Amino acid sequence: MKTTERGTSRSPRPGEVRLEGQPVSSGVAIGYAAIAHDPEPPPIDTARHDCDPAHERARLHEAITRSTAQLRRLHDRLALLPEDGQVEIGSLLEVYRRMLGPSRLRRGIEARLGHGMLAEAAVQLETEALAAFMLSPPGRPAPEGEDAVAARRRAGEFREIGRRLVRNLSGTPYRSFSTIPDGAILVAEQLRPADAALIDPSRIAAVVTEEGGSTGHTAILLRALGIPAVLATHGLLARIGRRTRLVVDGTTGQVIIRPSTRTAAAARVEVAAYARERQALGRLRRLPARLSSGEVLTLQANLEIPAELPMIAQSGAAGIGLLRSEFLFMNAETLPDEARQEALYRPLVEAMAGDPVTIRVVDWGSEKNSDALTQAGIGTGSDVNPALGLRGIRLLLRHRALLETQFAAILRAATAGPVRVLLPMVSSPAELHEARETYARVGRRLRRRGVDIPDPLPPLGIMIETPAAALMADVLAQEAEFLAIGTNDLTMYTLAADRAATDVAGLYDPLHPAVLRLVRLAADAGLRQRRPVSLCGEMASDPVAVPLLVGLGVRSFSMHASAVPRVKRAVRAAAMDDCRRMACRALEAADGPEVSAMLLAYAATLRHAGDG
Ligand code: PEP
Ligand code: MG
Repeated sequence: MKTTERGTSRSPRPGEVRLEGQPVSSGVAIGYAAIAHDPEPPPIDTARHDCDPAHERARLHEAITRSTAQLRRLHDRLALLPEDGQVEIGSLLEVYRRMLGPSRLRRGIEARLGHGMLAEAAVQLETEALAAFMLSPPGRPAPEGEDAVAARRRAGEFREIGRRLVRNLSGTPYRSFSTIPDGAILVAEQLRPADAALIDPSRIAAVVTEEGGSTGHTAILLRALGIPAVLATHGLLARIGRRTRLVVDGTTGQVIIRPSTRTAAAARVEVAAYARERQALGRLRRLPARLSSGEVLTLQANLEIPAELPMIAQSGAAGIGLLRSEFLFMNAETLPDEARQEALYRPLVEAMAGDPVTIRVVDWGSEKNSDALTQAGIGTGSDVNPALGLRGIRLLLRHRALLETQFAAILRAATAGPVRVLLPMVSSPAELHEARETYARVGRRLRRRGVDIPDPLPPLGIMIETPAAALMADVLAQEAEFLAIGTNDLTMYTLAADRAATDVAGLYDPLHPAVLRLVRLAADAGLRQRRPVSLCGEMASDPVAVPLLVGLGVRSFSMHASAVPRVKRAVRAAAMDDCRRMACRALEAADGPEVSAMLLAYAATLRHAGDG
């Protein structure tokens, strides 16, 4: 008997049962369930206020030391994980490590200990208070869209570090995955990111949990580790026992309990197909991004945090096409000075070993925010509509010292390898001109001081991410040495649909012909003025859209590193004539869905033709 159900709890019964959860990491697996339970720490008495603060402080200190050592051991394990798995875990461990240091969390816990609280209670109440603050900051509107996702993640980080401290205070051990048999499917009510870091992807076939969601750290980690995973599969634990057989489809979110012989055979075919697909994508790494008609494209990677570097190296990307330098400012309490910035850029440039790195000066404003800049009194002004306010180059030109420091740091690092400098949110030639003068002045000043910087200065280019910049691209390209089309913002500003707002998500469509016409204008301007043009919005990660963009005249793309192999495969299958034909039709289309249908039909004719 086959049933498809969502999350009711009934007692286990024989026969095939299908449940649906949230697919978070693609791939199919078949294996026996291994259920992992965490031993519960004893209940915490939060009402006590008669404890000896010195004694509780000593206990807290010991728990922090133990937690730090555990995190260090997790960190040491990073080298054993696949390179792309190191990215998410490394940055998360860094967040935990900072929380255990002289942080707001530590200060809050210690203040509670001063009132005679038990250390466990102080930790639990303080981490809960900080999590609640993140989720609904008093006096401010509750975060929405991407901000809400970030707030949930941050709240989860506080709770997680709190649980670790409580475990160490009460001597409650963590569950261990070492006894799980090879090839088993790990099933748990919930999986913390630190648990996911302990999973050996060569031993665990898949992961299924009852709780969790697709945007949390755990999901990101499982994706990075390449383990098929389905989270939020409600009702699973009530239906299975140890060694119940499962099929897990991390692409559709389906979990099949006690699969029939026929279902198991079909799953085995899919497991083999998935393995072949990964192998084929792996082989593409060293092949050129050459169309079937012979033209060669450049595929590069976007970098948001330095920890992504190993994944970029593994992807076969030909350099970094967009280094979003916002990371320098995001988790910092003070502005990074010239030396600190150089120390961060230089190793990135060196690591790319001669492949170019395009560093974008900070694009602060709109939905991006930073404590360091706010504390330095650099606000974006308009609360009314921040996306249309002081953002990117507009803000930097008002705060010249910030721009000069960043230019100087980039110029110093540029002796380590080829670098390009990119200006965000340009909407007029005057902005470019002013920024260019500042750039030249910073260069002259460094030379006068005897600092070694490249001569001539590295190319200075602009993002084309406002309709104004696209429409003026021919004028801008006279002074900009390269153009980088940012379709994320270009789509938002062209269609007047916020990129982060769910209620207008249906209107936000980078395949809308209005956006494509602007992409065409920018590509044409670059071609006429002999300026390199790249495209670095999310659209560049879409193997279905890239042939169309090639047809519109774009020859260089920068995308999330994990997308490079799939985009390369699409490119190697496509022919220039087809790309141009699709571009002509798309520019005349009435709307995005019409363009999308045409692209999907073309992609279907090419399926897997680019593997070889
Ligand atoms: C873009 O707008 O397309 C872009 C690449 O910049 P960001 O996503 O950082 O705004
Ligand atoms: Mg942008």
